[in-house]
Amino acid sequence: MAECLFCKIVNGDIPCNIVYQDENVLAFRDINPVAPVHVLIIPKRHIQSVRDLNDENINVVTHIFNAANIIAKELGIDETGFRVVTNIGEDGGQTVLHLHYHLLGGRNLQWPPG
Ligand code: AMP
Ligand code: ZN
Repeated sequence: MAECLFCKIVNGDIPCNIVYQDENVLAFRDINPVAPVHVLIIPKRHIQSVRDLNDENINVVTHIFNAANIIAKELGIDETGFRVVTNIGEDGGQTVLHLHYHLLGGRNLQWPPG
C-alpha cells in the first residue's frame, strides 16, 4: 500500500535499522523502544492486522516466529526470555495499520500490560 508507513520501510523509501530479513519478513528496531531490545517483525506484503490473516497468507506467521527465534538468539535474549506481542485495533493499541509483532526483551517485563 503506497501510503502505508511500514510498506514504505519495506520499499526502502523510509530508512530503518534492519536486524533481520528474509524473503517473507523484515525486522527492524522500533524507533521508540520500550525495552533494551525492541524489534518490530513485519510481513513484507501488506496485511493490516491479525484480523486480515486468512488461508492464503497465514503462513507468514510461521515466518515471523521463526524470525523472532533467530533474532532473540542473535541479540542474546533467547535464554533470559522475551515477549512477542501484536496489537490489534483501537483497544489493542495498534497505531500502524500494517501487521507487526513487537519482540521485547533485555529486562524483566511486567504482566499484565497497562
Ligand atoms: P503499535 O502501537 O503496536 O501499532 O506499534 C507501532 C510501533 O511502530 C510503535 O512502537 C512505534 O514506536 C513504531 N514506529 C513508528 N514509526 C516507526 C519507524 N519509522 N521506524 C521504526 N519504528 C516505528
Ligand atoms: Zn503496509
